[in-house]
Amino acid sequence: MSVNGKARWTCRTHVANVATDDTLEIAPLNNLPVIKDLVTDMAPFFDKWAQAKGQFKGARTRADEFARVLPDSPQRKEVDAAIECIGCGVCYSSCDVVAWNPAYLGPAALNRAWTLVNDVRDTANAPRLAAVAGDAGCHACHTHVTCSERCPKHIAPTAGIAGLKRAVAVAAIKGEL
Ligand code: SF4
Ligand code: SF4
Repeated sequence: MSVNGKARWTCRTHVANVATDDTLEIAPLNNLPVIKDLVTDMAPFFDKWAQAKGQFKGARTRADEFARVLPDSPQRKEVDAAIECIGCGVCYSSCDVVAWNPAYLGPAALNRAWTLVNDVRDTANAPRLAAVAGDAGCHACHTHVTCSERCPKHIAPTAGIAGLKRAVAVAAIKGEL
């Protein structure tokens, strides 16, 4: 929810760190429909994960060997930096571009897409990059960095979104989009 105007992971936030003049103003998250009181409808938030092709699509079967992903590979390091998202919506609620353009996929959905772009087992990168390349996708990000500053899991969606911009450009140059 929002505390004194900023989205917070409230169950892990100490009052002493966020109270201003001994005052707390608590409100529902911004950029989401309010159901009642402090409760927001998270459906639009997670619908955008689906629109960004945030589902893993593998090609292996139960009969195949496990895929081996080296812990120090560049792709695995990119995934490690972004994978611990808890879906709290703090970044989405803090993003000005979401407020201006409700169709914008937003930092969390794009961060999820970035983890899959770097997942060497995944087979759906072409449609995923096409999904995040549109007007409401990664290029709509204005690099305000608010999402990265506020993420309680210390994820930097801004960095992943920049990675998506590069990946989309490379795919376009190769004629894959
Ligand atoms: S960096 Fe991009 S996604 Fe993050 S808050 Fe700013 S505009 Fe939104
Ligand atoms: S990226 Fe961070 S702020 Fe955004 S939903 Fe995930 S954990 Fe929450």
